Amino acid sequence: MRRKLCKMAKSEYIIEVNHVSKQFEDGKFALNDVSLQVKKGEFVTILGPSGCGKTTLLRCIAGFQVASSGDILLKGEDVTKTPPYKRPVNTVFQKYALFPHLNVFNNVAFGLKLKKEDPATIKKKVRQALKMANLTGYEERKVDTLSGGQQQRVAIARAIVNKPEVLLLDEPLSALDLKMRHDMQIELKELHEKLGITFIYVTHDQEEALTLSDRVVVMSEGRIQQIGTPTDIYNEPQNCFVADFIGESNILSGTMIRDKRVKFIGQEFDCIDSGFGENNPVDVVIRPEDIYVWRKEDEKRGRVPDQEDDDYEDRVPKGKFTKWYGEVQSCIFKGVHYEMRVLTADGYEFLIQDYHEYLPGTEVGMLVRPEDIQIMRKEQHIYNYLDGEVQKNGKVRFLEADWTVEEKQLEGLKPGDKVRVLVRFRDIDLQDYEEEGTLSGEVHFILFKGNHYHLTIRTDEGYDLYVNTNDVWDDGDRVGIVIKPKDILLDKVESQKSKVES
Ligand code: ATP
Repeated sequence: MRRKLCKMAKSEYIIEVNHVSKQFEDGKFALNDVSLQVKKGEFVTILGPSGCGKTTLLRCIAGFQVASSGDILLKGEDVTKTPPYKRPVNTVFQKYALFPHLNVFNNVAFGLKLKKEDPATIKKKVRQALKMANLTGYEERKVDTLSGGQQQRVAIARAIVNKPEVLLLDEPLSALDLKMRHDMQIELKELHEKLGITFIYVTHDQEEALTLSDRVVVMSEGRIQQIGTPTDIYNEPQNCFVADFIGESNILSGTMIRDKRVKFIGQEFDCIDSGFGENNPVDVVIRPEDIYVWRKEDEKRGRVPDQEDDDYEDRVPKGKFTKWYGEVQSCIFKGVHYEMRVLTADGYEFLIQDYHEYLPGTEVGMLVRPEDIQIMRKEQHIYNYLDGEVQKNGKVRFLEADWTVEEKQLEGLKPGDKVRVLVRFRDIDLQDYEEEGTLSGEVHFILFKGNHYHLTIRTDEGYDLYVNTNDVWDDGDRVGIVIKPKDILLDKVESQKSKVES
C-alpha cells in the first residue's frame, strides 16, 4: 500500500533528475549534482553560458548520454539506463539533420516508414504534424529549397509526428537571423500550447529564455544556480552569477545593518529584505531601469517645472527615499530608452536606463524604491580561505605551491601543522605574464561592483581564487598570481581564536 502511494506522488512530475553528475574521461564534470523536477505540460528552459553543461543535461534526459551517478525518471519510471528510442521523448537538434534529397513529406514520414506503419496512417500523421508546424502546402518541396526557418519547422514536424510526451529542443533557433528567431519563438510558444506536451528547451540567450518559458533553470559550470519563473529569475536573482547573466544590473557590496535596512556606497537605504542578520556583508543588486534619475538643477528649483523636463514632479517619487548624486559620463540611445553611466563623487559607477536623455556632464540625482533593492547573501567576503600545511623549509604549502610567509605568522606552528590560510581579495596581484607569478591561471568570471572589479581566477591546478582589482581584465586572460608574504595570514586549524579577529 505504502509503495503505491509513493508512486502516485512521484508521477506528479513527468521528468525527475535526481543528483545527476556526468564526468567525462578527462575527469571533468560537465554536470555536478544536478536535480530538477518538471511537471507535465511545462515549458522549461535550461539557460547558461557556453560549456555550462546545458546540452549534457538534455542529452542525459534524452538518453544519448548516461549519467555517471544519480538517476533520471520519466513518468515515475527509472530510465537512467534506458536507450533513447525507448523513452517517451523526442529531440530537435541545433543542426536540423534533414535529408536533403527527400521532400518535406518524406522527411517527416521517415521514422514512421521505418516502423512500417501503414501508408494511410503515415499520411494522416504527417499532415497533422505539418499543420502544427505551419507547413501545410509544403509537402512536395525539396528541403534544400526551404529557408532556414522553414527547415527548422520541418525538423520540429518530424520530432512531433509521433506525439512524444516530451519535446527536447537544443538551441533550435541558433542558426536563424534575429527577425526569424523572434518569429519562430512566437510559433514555438503557440505550438507548445497547441500540443499541450512538455518542452525542455536549451539556450544561451537569456531573452529567449525569459520570453518562452514557464520556468528557467540557470546553469553555470555544471551546477544549477537557480530555478524559477522568468520574473523570479529577473527580479530575485539568488546570486551574483544569475544577476549578472540575466539582464544588466548594478551589483554593489553592502552591509545589512538590520532587517529592512542596508548600507552601500556609504549611505543607508530602506529595503524590504529580512533575515540576513545584523551588520553582515551582502551583495546588493539594482536593475538599471529601477533607478529614478533627475537633473540636480531641477531639484533645487523645487516645484517649478523646467521647460525641457516638465514632468520632473511626476517622475520622481515623493517620500523619504535616500538619494545620491553623480555626473553623467555617457548616454546612448537604445531604441526605446537611453542608457547612461553615472559616476558618483566617491567613484561608484551606475548603469541607468531612462526614457529621458541626460547629456554627459549633467549633474543628476538618483533614487531607488526599497522594493527594487535586491539583497543577496555573500558567499565569501574580503578573504579567500584556503587549506594549507606548514613545510620543513618554513614555507607554507597551499594551492599546490610553496609560499613564503612572515615569521610572526609561523609562531607556535611546526612543520606538518594544518593551517587555514587567509588572503584578502585585494591582496592578490595579477601579472600580465604568467611566468612572473608563483602560480598561473585564467580569468574566469568578472563582476563589476560599482567601483572595482571582482574576478574569479581559476588556477591551472583547478582552484578558484577571488580577486578585487581596479585593473581591467578580460574573460579568459592568462595571468601570473603573486601574493606577498605580508599578505598571507595563517590560522592554526585547531585554534579557536583567529589571528585575524584578534
Ligand atoms: P554550448 O552552449 O557551447 O553547447 P553547453 O552548455 O551545452 O555548451 P555542454 O556541451 O553540455 O555545454 O558541455 C559541458 C562541458 O562538458 C564542456 O566543458 C564540454 O567541453 C564538456 N564535454 C561535453 N561533451 C564532452 C565529451 N564527450 N568528452 C569530454 N568533455 C565533454
